[in-house]
Amino acid sequence: MEKLLRKCPSCNSYTLEKQCPKCNNETISPHPAKFSPDDKYARYRIRDRYLEKSE
Ligand SMILES: [Zn+2]
Repeated sequence: MEKLLRKCPSCNSYTLEKQCPKCNNETISPHPAKFSPDDKYARYRIRDRYLEKSE
């Protein structure tokens, strides 16, 4: 079922369409993952922000 779910890399919306209904960008098929690549990037961003603020 995850193969049907696609994701817009632009607005991070999940959709079944090949084109994002929100911004009309082409959507991608995320890995049927045990981990979320978005989580990974989000953690880096949060960490970077935290480091910036603490300095
Ligand atoms: Zn979009």
